[in-house]
Amino acid sequence: MKNVLVGGLPPDVPGWLARRLPGATVEDQPSPAAAAEALRRGGWALVVVDASWLEPELEEALRALHRAPDAPPLLLTAPVDRDGTDAVAFDGIRPARVFAHPLDREALVREAADRLSRGGPAGEGSGGGGGQAAALSSAVAGVWARYRGQVLARVDVLEAAAMGVLEGRLDREGRREAEREAHKLAGSVGTFGFAEGSRLSREAEALLAGPTALGQAEALRLADLAVAIRRELTATPAAPAPSRPPPPSASPETAASGESSPPAGAEGRAGAAEGAGTAPAQAPGPTLLIVDADRDTADRLAMEASARGMRPAVAQGSAEARRVLERTRPDVALLDISVDGGMELLRALSDRFPPVPTIAFTRSDAFTDRVEVARLGGRGFLRKPLAPARAIDAVEPLLRADEAREAAVLAVDDDPAILEAVRFVLEPHGVRVHTLSSPERFWEVLEASAPDVVLLDVDMPRVNGLELCRVLRNDPRWKSVPVVFLTSRTDPTTVQEVFAAGADDFVGKPFVGPELGARIQNRLERVRLQRSLAETDALTGVPNRRGSEEVLERFLRLAAVQGEPMAFAVVDLDCFKAVNDRCGHAVGDEVLARVARLLQKRFWAQDVVARWGGEEFVVGMYGMDKADGVQRLAEALEGLREEQFGAPDKEPFRVTFSAGVAEFGPDGRDLASLYRAADAAMYAAKEAGRDRVLPAGWSPGDAEGPRTVDVLVVEDDPAIARLLQHALETRGLRHEWVANGQRAATLLTGTSPELRAKVVLLDVDLPGLDGLGVLRLLAAERMLERTRVIMLTVRTHEAEVVRALEIGAFDHVSKPFSVPVLLQRIRRALRT
Ligand code: GH3
Ligand code: MG
Ligand code: MG
Repeated sequence: MKNVLVGGLPPDVPGWLARRLPGATVEDQPSPAAAAEALRRGGWALVVVDASWLEPELEEALRALHRAPDAPPLLLTAPVDRDGTDAVAFDGIRPARVFAHPLDREALVREAADRLSRGGPAGEGSGGGGGQAAALSSAVAGVWARYRGQVLARVDVLEAAAMGVLEGRLDREGRREAEREAHKLAGSVGTFGFAEGSRLSREAEALLAGPTALGQAEALRLADLAVAIRRELTATPAAPAPSRPPPPSASPETAASGESSPPAGAEGRAGAAEGAGTAPAQAPGPTLLIVDADRDTADRLAMEASARGMRPAVAQGSAEARRVLERTRPDVALLDISVDGGMELLRALSDRFPPVPTIAFTRSDAFTDRVEVARLGGRGFLRKPLAPARAIDAVEPLLRADEAREAAVLAVDDDPAILEAVRFVLEPHGVRVHTLSSPERFWEVLEASAPDVVLLDVDMPRVNGLELCRVLRNDPRWKSVPVVFLTSRTDPTTVQEVFAAGADDFVGKPFVGPELGARIQNRLERVRLQRSLAETDALTGVPNRRGSEEVLERFLRLAAVQGEPMAFAVVDLDCFKAVNDRCGHAVGDEVLARVARLLQKRFWAQDVVARWGGEEFVVGMYGMDKADGVQRLAEALEGLREEQFGAPDKEPFRVTFSAGVAEFGPDGRDLASLYRAADAAMYAAKEAGRDRVLPAGWSPGDAEGPRTVDVLVVEDDPAIARLLQHALETRGLRHEWVANGQRAATLLTGTSPELRAKVVLLDVDLPGLDGLGVLRLLAAERMLERTRVIMLTVRTHEAEVVRALEIGAFDHVSKPFSVPVLLQRIRRALRT
């Protein structure tokens, strides 16, 4: 059982730590004096105290800690203030880590667990960790093998300095240089498994940095140290030799980070060269899979892609494409779905993890194909013929979108060995690492690499890491990027300075791989969490306005480039205030969450459903025109009407919405104008009686001339008529109903007809005059040119249908009919 001493933390923290640290006993001390007493008693595996308890007695006990041979690590929580005004000085106390208030409890418990599992004194743990630790140390050993020579050259400098002192020719500059080299040695060799080497180097650094002139005694000590360091470094490091080649760089070296590539590193990372001879040593671009049966088209696309820095992989059929997929993981694919097995290939690409974003490219213009592509997870639809440049234009936004999701770290250190070690530690965590060894290029590289976390060294030639951090904190664009210092200076003053400069965390060099990995991972998780919290609506779980605008705009750009339609809808719940008033806001919230889920289920993966305000949602539908959009929203509304909502002790109730749909192009070319158009249509839907979907530009009908309707329903069964009317209303179609054939004929014909209908739904069996009779009259008066008649036949009598079509009916549907099918037919009749 490991004992943890805790003192001065917020009252609920000790209990919480105890729950989160199984196998440890957490003893909360009642007072600083009691804590000091307990410390003196000994037997602690970890000490966690707040800086507010640093009274002389406890301070002395803590200072005494470090003198013991197997002292427990100390974690300090402290009111470290960004301005430094309130910072405490940890005089002679050497915390393993300082946590600033407000306390990041997860970080604290992670650190505590980490320290406890290491068992030994702070920092020196070799940690009998699992496979990952072993893999990491083998990677680090690989770096060591390459840098060994360079590091040993630093020891030469120390030896030369010792000789210089003895011979009386070591000047100030020479001494400074030796001090810098000792400092670097102290910071790096521990990471490579030479803890003792690190300790010896630190001693050499202290000796050289001291205020006194160096005499013979110091020179001899320095020479001894150099010899000892060399002996250490030429022995086998604690870590095993590399058992496998280092992982290939997770990211292409950008121009910005290219500088950092150390001279010796190149041969280690030429790794990715598996794609047939195309992989250059330094900058492999994203891979684009092109599947097209036409060699010429494929080649032209490949040329265009290469010109833009992509690596094309061409396949002329799906079988060949699958073979390519066995070798490489494309970043994006352009697929002619008309190749044999094209749709199955599309599914296979979308089912991969992570999915390969794929754009369908085809000569077909069928709506059903487009729907199928969307259903199978396709990310776009391009129609042939299309210039290769335009096709590749369409691919690029998909690449950038996916790139943006990968976390990036910028590490700045003047010691390339450290940078390389950071790379090896972090890349297995899926982090893109940009490295920079000349800090004067910091701003340039910062902008280009747009990191999620910045890792900084404190001492660098010409530029000080603290300076960089302070400037970063004053820049509006970068002030909230997490900054972690990686430094061998762990004295209290530096720790305090680092936090005062605005650092978020501090990792002492030499760092051990798993520790750095966990710290950075922790920072990145928080960045991701904050980002997704800021972009996700907490109540419904769908993106909020901020989280959806960018992707909507990307789809609009795609629509512009590809000449595809895109519909945008604004959806507002009807009389929602009444729900709150009757059942309370909690029930209202539940309704909102369910409506969001329903909308998400109704729409495809590539559609965007978001909550933009109180009870208002938006839906972006790429590839859909306005009529498609109205249709799909209307179906969603019909689905919502079926849902029953309830509250304890209340009558169950139902919910509806009103929606307006705008289309990219006719109603606006940017998000703001599309929103205005859709919102106006939504208000028109409210005006017209709510519970319906209207297209932008809809008007309630002309005041002059005959009444105009979209659909006249001529049907004697009131139940069927009501069903149809409701469906028409939902889609914002103007309609009327008559039950008598004669009455319909009177309304529609004559010298000045009372009613004009774009479509007539005409039953066959009718009182007054039967359907065929009405149809004949309309034909005789040449009305069928602008009025399309859809016959509703009870029996599928071939003869009757044929006769109706001969007279001039546009279409026929037999009863009993499915409402969605009939509505599709009505849409077609209205369109043509
Ligand atoms: P209309 O059909 O004209 O849209 O009527 P309405 O009552 O839906 O519209 P109104 O704008 O008058 O009221 C909107 C209501 O939505 C008022 C507000 O209480 C409610 N609301 C907005 N956001 C939330 C929320 O997050 N939770 C709950 N429960 N209600 C919300
Ligand atoms: Mg409302
Ligand atoms: Mg509203």
